[in-house]
Amino acid sequence: IMHRTHIGVDQDFKNLLKQGVRAAISDGWGGSMIATELQDILFGTPAPILGTANLGVLREDEVNIIIHGHEPLLSEMIVAVAQEPEMIELAKSKGAKGINLAGMCCTANEILMRHGVGIAGNFLQQELAIVTGAVDAMVVDVQCIFQSIATVAECYHTKIITTSPKAKIPGAIHIEFDEHDALKSAREIVKTAIENFPNRKGNIGIPDNETVQIAGFSHETINYLLGGMFRASYRPLNDNIINGRIRGIAGVVGCNNARVKHNEGHIAMVKELIKNDVIVLTTGCNAIACAEAGLLVPEAAAQYAGEGLASVCEAVGIPPVLHLGSCVDNSRILIAATAMVKDGGLGDDISDLPAAGAAPEWMSEKAISIGQYFVGSGVFTVFGVTWPTTGSKEVTDFLFKDFEDMYGGMWAFEPDPIKAAHLMIEHIDKKRKALGIDKARERVLYDMAMRRELV
Ligand code: SF4
Repeated sequence: IMHRTHIGVDQDFKNLLKQGVRAAISDGWGGSMIATELQDILFGTPAPILGTANLGVLREDEVNIIIHGHEPLLSEMIVAVAQEPEMIELAKSKGAKGINLAGMCCTANEILMRHGVGIAGNFLQQELAIVTGAVDAMVVDVQCIFQSIATVAECYHTKIITTSPKAKIPGAIHIEFDEHDALKSAREIVKTAIENFPNRKGNIGIPDNETVQIAGFSHETINYLLGGMFRASYRPLNDNIINGRIRGIAGVVGCNNARVKHNEGHIAMVKELIKNDVIVLTTGCNAIACAEAGLLVPEAAAQYAGEGLASVCEAVGIPPVLHLGSCVDNSRILIAATAMVKDGGLGDDISDLPAAGAAPEWMSEKAISIGQYFVGSGVFTVFGVTWPTTGSKEVTDFLFKDFEDMYGGMWAFEPDPIKAAHLMIEHIDKKRKALGIDKARERVLYDMAMRRELV
């Protein structure tokens, strides 16, 4: 694709965009999926696990280390090293009660899913974590690290530690992560954080915000939860979609965007979807936003979900919003969609499913690639905040309309999260109609009081 965009090569926008779909498909069904599978082989397939979220996960009397970025190799090693007795003793010798790890952005999702490590926040909370004055080290690898992070840290005692040869930041300490001697690198990083604990300036202010969440809904786990050990399958999910208790399925993912109020679009959209009986699969910073809003616990179903979805969540014991992991783990959503098609009764292709995707606060280039592989796989996908092709009607029509004939899925843009949720619901209803299950929603017998309310 880089050759095509070189001067004087591919000059037909349709041809270029089709190649973009091919590249994105190889990212989703190739790169991301292989990465997820390999991580599961190396570190274990996630299973439901209790965790907490928001800045309240930081501890005033412990060494706080925030692991921020995307690659789980280093973070897995830091989790292991932080539990070593000699490290805990070293922390105590510096006046701390212990070592407290917390995650930020997608690395947070990785170590939450496998170890239950608390999440300090998503993309727009990274500076706020430092401003608590309680972060002794923020360890970063790649992607989504603010350029200002080292400058903000200068006002406090926090050490910013870069670890990837691909991503260095002026003003940060660089301790390169060497995969061949992973524990040694991790020990050096944890020691640096511990040594920094006595340098705190006394201006500590940790907000009292900490919510409970349940994460770890891998494809394998969903299969097991729905069907049990001996009959693991998506059958109960498909049946509940066919009988209308669950209207459809939505993947809501993606970043924070500084152009809009933090998390507002995420929460408004997800609440609107579950209120309308659409079960939500979430990853990335959307998952963290949902955790902070208390949507990732089974009790959220009774409080926020429509009657049909709430009844299924109660029967199975799951939240109405299922946390599937980091941005890389969007491939888990593809696997779940494929499993639903294979189980039968909902068409022959992902594009037949009553399903839709969204990234209400997207901002990173990667989000476009992820959206493109969902569209190319047959999923109607809505992005919020801004859209890069609105200056050209021809290009926009190609992406928003013509793509549907070519791939079964197409793009849409809607900055209002409630309107965007209803675009998704309309699409879900269109697919229900095409499948002939639009009339299958359960009959509600109205008593006199309910009838009077209708008038
Ligand atoms: S969801 Fe977006 S902002 Fe959040 S960590 Fe992933 S790429 Fe970065």
